[in-house]
Amino acid sequence: MSHNAPFPLIDRHTHLEGALDPTWVRHEADRRGLGLPASLEALWSGQAVPFEGFIEAFLYGASLLDSREAVREALLAVARRTRAAGGTGFDLWASPHFLVVHRKQIQLEALWRGLEEGLAEARAWGLRGCVVLDAVNHFGPKHGQAVLDLVLPALPAFVKGFSTGGLEKSPFRDWAPVFDRARAAGLRIAAHAGENGPGSNVREAVLEGGVSRIVHGIRADDATLALLAERRIPVDVCPTSNRALASDVVPHPLPRMLSAGVRCALGTDDPGVAPCDLETEIAAARGMGLDDLALARLRQNGAEDAWCLADGPP
Ligand SMILES: [Zn+2]
Repeated sequence: MSHNAPFPLIDRHTHLEGALDPTWVRHEADRRGLGLPASLEALWSGQAVPFEGFIEAFLYGASLLDSREAVREALLAVARRTRAAGGTGFDLWASPHFLVVHRKQIQLEALWRGLEEGLAEARAWGLRGCVVLDAVNHFGPKHGQAVLDLVLPALPAFVKGFSTGGLEKSPFRDWAPVFDRARAAGLRIAAHAGENGPGSNVREAVLEGGVSRIVHGIRADDATLALLAERRIPVDVCPTSNRALASDVVPHPLPRMLSAGVRCALGTDDPGVAPCDLETEIAAARGMGLDDLALARLRQNGAEDAWCLADGPP
């Protein structure tokens, strides 16, 4: 990279299950003779819905991922959205255990094939992508072990990380053995923390869970921000999603996090449910009063800490 070239623009956090293009979802629902949940229509039109409504809308999209072709389409929706916003890469969270074992709607092999084909096509467009396994926090650490039991025997090379998501109900110290096992298998470790749970979860995830990357972290207090900065822990921040799912956190703490020296970067989270892309997220950050220098810092962090750009072991 030349000295003056801008850093690649990366979508640092997006979910396969929440990324489907609304036009495709409408078409697919028609084809299958299904109705769309009112919550999804409301979110697409920019209305706020209760948390349960967001989950309903998210799960509706997830329910359509029942074939290799549908998974490939979801991956390509991520790639098209990233490319249209000027981005060149994405770290994509996906939940194989939820789709394969919990919902029994697709075979693991078909899921991996759909992801692999989509990633290959995205790469042909000049985009880099990787997959981060998403385990459900509120299903508990036993579920986390089951996720690893499912995937570790034949883990594709495009899987770079392991994360928890869902409701932050199960203490991160209890997840430490799961994280240790995932790390021993060569995976990087992240956690959704300090979003729907208290800010203290962020500190616990880092100090007791051994997590090396935080998703959201928006409820962290100043002492925790100092810890994140000191340890250079990357934090993925998603303004549109935070507005929808953590609307009580106002003003949005992104400027405070950056001022504290936290390595924040922008992500879209569930852009097929709560419509957004990297451009809207950058505009949202600017709307918080961040100047060009701060926006450049977000972009630089986004590239430097991206797992889709990281080669080799963690
Ligand atoms: Zn997320």
